[in-house]
Amino acid sequence: MFKLSKKVQSLPPYLFLEIDKAKRRARSEGRDIIDLGIGDPDQPTPKFIIDALNQAANDPANHRYALDQGMPVLRSAVADWYKNRFNVNLNSETEVLPLIGSKEGIAHFPLAFLNPGDISLVPDPCYPPYKGGTILAGGKLHIMPLQESNSFLPDLKKIPFLVRKKAKIIFVNYPNNPTNACASDDFYKQLIEFAVKNKIIIISDLAYSEMAYDGYKPRSLLEFDGAREVTIEFHSLSKTYNMTGWRAGWAAGNAGLVSALAKVKSNIDSGIFSAVQLAAVAALKSSNDHIKSMCQLYQERRDVLVDGLNVLGWRVLKPKATFYVWIKNPAQESSIDFAARLLKDADIVATPGIGFGKYGEGYIRMALTVPRERIKEALERIKKIS
Ligand SMILES: *Cc1c(COP(=O)(O)O)cnc(C)c1O
Repeated sequence: MFKLSKKVQSLPPYLFLEIDKAKRRARSEGRDIIDLGIGDPDQPTPKFIIDALNQAANDPANHRYALDQGMPVLRSAVADWYKNRFNVNLNSETEVLPLIGSKEGIAHFPLAFLNPGDISLVPDPCYPPYKGGTILAGGKLHIMPLQESNSFLPDLKKIPFLVRKKAKIIFVNYPNNPTNACASDDFYKQLIEFAVKNKIIIISDLAYSEMAYDGYKPRSLLEFDGAREVTIEFHSLSKTYNMTGWRAGWAAGNAGLVSALAKVKSNIDSGIFSAVQLAAVAALKSSNDHIKSMCQLYQERRDVLVDGLNVLGWRVLKPKATFYVWIKNPAQESSIDFAARLLKDADIVATPGIGFGKYGEGYIRMALTVPRERIKEALERIKKIS
């Protein structure tokens, strides 16, 4: 009886329906599923963060509406974190905005700057809210393919002149979900030059900046000259502190961009639960011990999975960062068929690349979010069906 809006109708289709169904069916049949499909840490939130939440939750002062621009103590903690981690100075009052998870901010940001017909430059494959947020704001997508031949970086030279003129936003995400690619300094410099020249806002999604291996330290775009004129960067406590369910993240960067997002949000939400904000402060002020052991854990799993797949002849590269392994289909079949076959024959869940966009076709994504022993078991099963 009620017709969906044109915007909602034009959201990309959800392609995991069949896989989700098959996964539920397999579980209900009591099969022993190894789920490498979900980008959600399997480890608990560190205890000192839970303790901070408990303490704050018991204080009636935190039971009221929070300030929708975030508590000053959290904004300062974010600014200090940026200073320590990237040597970037941020004004905590004007250049930092806490978010109810970074997804929320990323999806809402286009509302602040897109008029009907304006263009977002979106990588493909990508984290789905880049496309969804653009479409819900009435914008149009211009797809930038991320391909192996380009180290999974967008080729800015290929963006047509007329598209540049209509583009308001470009999304980048390094270290990248789902391809695990990392940005070179050169790429970031070219990106900033491109954005300044064409008056395009850079949205840099830094969700995986702390999840890196072999001594690699991902950089913030804000470290680079000129970036602050055109950049808003998003980070999140979700992956860094095993806090996906808590909903805590932030935006940082150009003051005008940050305040525009705050203006949109002031019409939509009323801030993060204060006790969660105070727990986030505890996380950000902690030593790096948790992050070190987290990276060590994923690095061990990564080595087991990637070395094991290569022994089986799959030819997989070792990620320098993120907890995703991006795997080219070893056989000539669609990514959906490949994932369906892994589930049917080996009780393994992996994510078909096409779910992240059409240039994800030909790949599947496996997440390092199960214990090492389970990864070894998965390899045994793959060996049997190979
Ligand atoms: C997990 C993830 C996020 C974080 O989302 P939250 O809303 O902060 O939990 C952001 N970007 C990418 C690419 C992610 O994979």
